[in-house]
Amino acid sequence: MANQPLVFDYQAAQGKPENIRHPEGYCPFCDVEHLTNILAQDDDRIWLVNKFRTLEDTFQTVVIESSDHLGGPSTYSVEQNRQVFEFAFKCWHQMIVSNKYQSTIMYKNYGPLSGGSLRHPHFQIVGLDNYDVYQNIDISNFTGVEVIHDECCEITLSTQPIIGFVEINIAIDEVGHIDDLADAVQVIVKYLLNDYMGGRLSSYNLFFYEMANKFYCKIVPRYATSPYFVGYKIAQVQNEGRLEKIAADISERLSANQ
Ligand SMILES: [Zn+2]
Repeated sequence: MANQPLVFDYQAAQGKPENIRHPEGYCPFCDVEHLTNILAQDDDRIWLVNKFRTLEDTFQTVVIESSDHLGGPSTYSVEQNRQVFEFAFKCWHQMIVSNKYQSTIMYKNYGPLSGGSLRHPHFQIVGLDNYDVYQNIDISNFTGVEVIHDECCEITLSTQPIIGFVEINIAIDEVGHIDDLADAVQVIVKYLLNDYMGGRLSSYNLFFYEMANKFYCKIVPRYATSPYFVGYKIAQVQNEGRLEKIAADISERLSANQ
């Protein structure tokens, strides 16, 4: 059966911060005093129920990464970045083991083309009542040109991407290696935002998966979505030579970071 859509709740979306009148520059995640339905907190990291649930048959939550409105993995210190990933994984894991949802997804939007509506850095963790997200993807979407492979983590560029063009996959085989994953994400998103397209890339997503006894993070640089994908569900991939060059560039930065 083809991928099934999630149902969008138009009524609920009318109340979203970008759709209601606020003083110029108002950010609900900076306004910590008025946050409600907080699920967990660790220093300035806060996990809470999303006030504006726009999807039916889901439980939508948000992890505020930092009190810094303009923060993100590309600007945090190594230590702060690790703390953000540790906290987010803890929250995600808690929702997975609650066994209340058929699938629990975690992802992050960054930048205007990422699909996010709030600049303040955050992850989203969403429980889907009746949806097995792993039906739509395959382990082949997470393998390809090797960037590095050591005992802590394995990084590849997809040769069978979900949407394309470039998808970078980081795999760890246990949550004990979360710091390695966090460090790799940090190096790679800095590369993407600063060097990959001469600093012209504005947006990326992080997507997280638990499958085949591993945790995966897929980093996807975002552009306007290709019409080949929108109209025909055809992904595009960079040719072999370009993938090898990107793999070498990332590998160089990862080793410089050691
Ligand atoms: Zn803010």
